[in-house]
Amino acid sequence: MHPWTIRVSVLPDELFSTWLVRAALAQGCDPMHLTGALWPRWRAWTVDLDRGINEHRMAILAGRSGVDAARLEAATLRPILAAVAPGIKPAKANWPWVLAQGSRNRRRRGGLQFCPLCLAGDATPYFRRTWRLAWHVGCVRHRTLLADHCGHCQSLIEPHRVHTNDATLCRCPSCGHDLRRTTTVEVCPQALTFQVTADQVLAHGHGTWLATEISREEWFRLAEIHAGGRILVRRDDEVSLGLTALPMSLQRPSERVLRLRMALRGMNGEPRGRPAPPTRSNTEHKQTQVTAPSHHDAPARPAPARPQAKVQGEWIRLLRRLRVGHP
Ligand SMILES: [Zn+2]
Ligand SMILES: [Zn+2]
Repeated sequence: MHPWTIRVSVLPDELFSTWLVRAALAQGCDPMHLTGALWPRWRAWTVDLDRGINEHRMAILAGRSGVDAARLEAATLRPILAAVAPGIKPAKANWPWVLAQGSRNRRRRGGLQFCPLCLAGDATPYFRRTWRLAWHVGCVRHRTLLADHCGHCQSLIEPHRVHTNDATLCRCPSCGHDLRRTTTVEVCPQALTFQVTADQVLAHGHGTWLATEISREEWFRLAEIHAGGRILVRRDDEVSLGLTALPMSLQRPSERVLRLRMALRGMNGEPRGRPAPPTRSNTEHKQTQVTAPSHHDAPARPAPARPQAKVQGEWIRLLRRLRVGHP
């Protein structure tokens, strides 16, 4: 097979699948034709390509594109999964902290965010890998809430459906609106603080919680729990967390802002919300045991005020359980 006419480099933090779209447009063809020529009999756009592709397909792509396979692999979300949740196998349906695309045929249900001002400022507009992460809700540079829909027709962001004659990733494939003109709003500073902290933990391999150094894996697991990803209401130890109806990986940026604010408070050792007034069930220490993840819409249960040392003891026990791995 011949290499592509035009070599397209992967830009800093560029997302694998959207690099592929950019590469297709540079060759003058639409993304479906490019992947059809690369991998006949595989409907590449029906899967989440950013979760990585097998070695054989990656070798073909590297050969045709002239870009090193390791560089392409680094643009997928796999290295991030391996860093934040090493116990999770890539074949698992839901990856912690990664936005789900929920593909149905070639149409998606979510999963890709963007900063309109970053796209507008790019010499070559491109989508960032971090825009697929659930802890990213804002742009640090522009302090804007990330968008995840076309500002004109409200369609999802699906760059792979772009038309060849548009020759840009910045146009909504459904209505033609320029995504760079999407109206922006300011992002919540606390959510952005959590986002920046999580990025630092990802980069450095460890984080702190209640002045204790913990591993990156433990930090993200604890933060996920504090963000309300699981119900943990246990008899006696009173670790009681609520959750919202949707998993974080399916929520919009504005919804995840609230989760990240909860996670920030939790990781700083602050109580969740207002302390609850004493109730019969609190004073008698009788609580329902609910440990399994649930999709029921349970309201957040405010934790009663307790001494810091007791809270820390409970969480250290929880942390020990987490070392066993993800449920
Ligand atoms: Zn930006
Ligand atoms: Zn549109």
